[in-house]
Amino acid sequence: MRHIAIIGSGPAGYYTAEAAQKRWGDEVKVDVFDLLPVPYGLIRTGVAPDHQSIKGVSKRYESTALSENVRFVGNVCVGKDVTIPELTELYDAIVIATGAPHDRKLGMEGEELSNIFGSAAFVGWYNGHPQFANLDPDLSGKHAVVIGMGNVALDVARILAKTETEFEGADIVAHALDLLRQSKLQKITILGRRGPHQIMMTPKELGELAALERASPRVDKDDLPDEAEDALLEPGLRKSVTHLRSFAAIPESLHAEKPIEIEIDFFASPVSFAGEDGGVKSIRVERTEVHAGRATGTGEFYDVPADLVVSCIGYRSSPLADVPFDDRAGRFANDEGRILPGIYCVGWARRGPSGTIGTNRPDGFGVIDRIVEDLESGALGKATKQGRSGFDALAEKRGLNIVTFRDWKRIEEAEEKAAREGAPREKFVDIESMIRAKG
Ligand code: NAP
Repeated sequence: MRHIAIIGSGPAGYYTAEAAQKRWGDEVKVDVFDLLPVPYGLIRTGVAPDHQSIKGVSKRYESTALSENVRFVGNVCVGKDVTIPELTELYDAIVIATGAPHDRKLGMEGEELSNIFGSAAFVGWYNGHPQFANLDPDLSGKHAVVIGMGNVALDVARILAKTETEFEGADIVAHALDLLRQSKLQKITILGRRGPHQIMMTPKELGELAALERASPRVDKDDLPDEAEDALLEPGLRKSVTHLRSFAAIPESLHAEKPIEIEIDFFASPVSFAGEDGGVKSIRVERTEVHAGRATGTGEFYDVPADLVVSCIGYRSSPLADVPFDDRAGRFANDEGRILPGIYCVGWARRGPSGTIGTNRPDGFGVIDRIVEDLESGALGKATKQGRSGFDALAEKRGLNIVTFRDWKRIEEAEEKAAREGAPREKFVDIESMIRAKG
């Protein structure tokens, strides 16, 4: 019998569990740990609430979770409730699948002003992550600035721009919907330090900006490169740039019909924040030029009004005691998923915050291949590990209040019962309510 502990129940965690099950069948027992009492990581707290079809992938994880040899062990903080050295004593292999839950900092003057948020916090707020449920952003100003040109920047701009009816069928949490309903925003500027050919936005997501009820995307046609150069782009990016070209062609009369403008400002590198009474008021930006894909400052500066700022510039993993961490890259130090004998990482914890949900599937299968190789080569030793019975004894001794998958199904049922009309669920946004709902 092989005993595998996976830390983190998001896509990378469950694809790894699926791979272990496919590899060893009945000869493996997999424990999937999570800090929260609820599973699925970014599927629950990262994927945009108005992108329900993407969240449908959790059904696949559920079928893995419900199998005999995989179990969910929620509400356990690895590093505090149980340490990595303790887990390595109990399991043949530990796979860290904790993602990248922290915001990368801009490192700019004025970053401590209020109403400036990183996307982990802001996305966590509208998605009901217990850590960010009390963020309470001030949406009473006219101008929001979103920094970064990736899909998270698009998610944030779109959520800020949507009307209440556009959230029909979404699982945006009530506290966010209440604040968005009262929002006074008139303009959302998306700042990118490079040009249209360097965006990380994918076409489907970018195209959604053109279909918003009360917001219209604006691109300055002078920022667009010569159209002939688009032919050199890979197909996805070329399609995204085609959307930008169509935004640049929107006539003023159509912009005038929509009360919110989403301005996409290229060649604009943020330099510092300025504030008033402790709150952010504007961002100083330097114009850039891009040569061979690299942005350089031109020495020309201007100020963009900003009553709210969300920085969407990527994420960092959270280090764990006793596990080597690459601080510069913001992820675990690893060689193709191997960290130390018996300790592995997968997903964003391994490669950093890139790729789609599906990218984590080959990643999960790959890490199980590494574990098989190491078991077969004897690199993990021959000792018989206790696995889950050993962990259960430890958990009992420490009085841990573990949440099982069956408990989660009760929490899920309560969330579905509490849903407003048309919504799939109303999430609990604090751990105590989740624990109470499990009964
Ligand atoms: P991302 O795709 O890496 O984009 C980050 C953006 O931040 C880039 O435009 C980058 O510009 C910019 N940036 C970085 N440092 C900066 C700085 N100091 N100042 C100004 N701009 C800076 O990251 P993401 O948007 O957080 O997305 C993470 C991953 O999740 C991606 O793989 C994404 O596709 C995925 N995701 C997918 C979906 C979806 O499929 N619907 C939704 C959300 C997220 P440079 O390029 O110039 O560095």
